Amino acid sequence: MARETGRRQGRDTPPCPNPQAGSDGMRINADRLWRDLTELSHIGRGEKGISRLAFSPADMEGRRWLMGKFEEAGIPARIDGYGNVFGRLEGKRPKEDPRHQGGLILVGSHIDTVPEGGMFDGALGVLAGLECLRTLRESGMDLPCAVEVAAFANEEGARLSPGTFGSRVLLEGVSQSEWSKVYPVLEEAGLDGGGGPGPTLNPETIRAYLELHIEQGGILDRSGEDIGVVEGIVCIQLFHAIFEGEANHAGTTPMDIRKDALQGAAELVLSVPSTVRELGSGRTVGTCGRVEVSPGGRNIIPGRVEVSVEVRDLSEEVAGKVVESLRKKALAIASARGLKVELTPVSVTPGAAMCPEIQDIIEAEARALGLSVRRMPSGAGHDAMTFGRKVPSGMIFVPSRGGISHSPLEWTSKEQCAAGAQVLLRTLVALASRRDSLSLPRLS
Ligand SMILES: [Zn+2]
Repeated sequence: MARETGRRQGRDTPPCPNPQAGSDGMRINADRLWRDLTELSHIGRGEKGISRLAFSPADMEGRRWLMGKFEEAGIPARIDGYGNVFGRLEGKRPKEDPRHQGGLILVGSHIDTVPEGGMFDGALGVLAGLECLRTLRESGMDLPCAVEVAAFANEEGARLSPGTFGSRVLLEGVSQSEWSKVYPVLEEAGLDGGGGPGPTLNPETIRAYLELHIEQGGILDRSGEDIGVVEGIVCIQLFHAIFEGEANHAGTTPMDIRKDALQGAAELVLSVPSTVRELGSGRTVGTCGRVEVSPGGRNIIPGRVEVSVEVRDLSEEVAGKVVESLRKKALAIASARGLKVELTPVSVTPGAAMCPEIQDIIEAEARALGLSVRRMPSGAGHDAMTFGRKVPSGMIFVPSRGGISHSPLEWTSKEQCAAGAQVLLRTLVALASRRDSLSLPRLS
């Protein structure tokens, strides 16, 4: 539908430098994108992988390199006080023109990495955005709104937790306590933190947010599909169960009078997969990632065990049901085993829905290129999560071999990277030509 709108406008409007109003004839340069990915991967490269931890000298070198790439292509670039780098292509129609679209299209991701990470996580989204701007500029295409590409700061949160700092500080603002931790690190990196804890970016100035990223679950790689259209980023619900029994001598205490806290915790851990299967959506995941056993001696019956229980789903309601059931199970297990259990309150990290109209455009544009498509949730957080709450947003996934990420073994082929970038380009052109407003959905 969006493409037809583009074509119709093409017929109605006077000739422009490139008379092709659709993006059908415009191709990103796959070799150039691949060269950029390779070049950036040399910054912060060590023996075991790439380390560009947020605000480290390697990260800042990567940011300067990126600004150089924009400028080399004749695209004005800037870095803000938080370390976010932007390259911007202005819309060519003046504001007085009725075809002018309010608000810009923002394409973002990140170029910071985890320690010893890979060359695609984040970098692909930013460099594909750069390649789209270069292709648009070279084509002389007359877009009715500005397009900006952003490399947000500290998405990973590997050095300074939590992550997605660069997008959150702009759009939501951060707490004073987070700001007081981050500010000295910004200063050390030569950034002035201009704008303070924020927020400083009005979401109404952004028409749509787009992000291309590698798919980190291995689902596309296993299915052999080319493009994932993200339906939303899952919400995370977390609680801790603290089982209390009695620490005692492992040699002298008979089995029938023991109060082994680890046995209770283990029963809870084992009940997670069946509870997720029974009450989840089919895509719900549950994990007990941390267990602390006290006193923790080989020859002592565990007296106290703390276990973390995390459940993720697109729907807060579904995740909530699974969590509630697991909390009830913890109580029942403790009572059956003569243990005490304390349950911490459930913390909820809200997810974000992606805009249904943008999902449709991504799918249509991918199919027009002959690519296969799957709709899917994102189990990992991204900057798109921050934007998705306030701005109509869309996310495009490309396969990552074996679903490996946060590792130097991360791999997406040149052709797969190019396919993702081409879908990104077509999506942003289609979006720029759309006259109607996009919806801002919420997760149930
Ligand atoms: Zn990432």
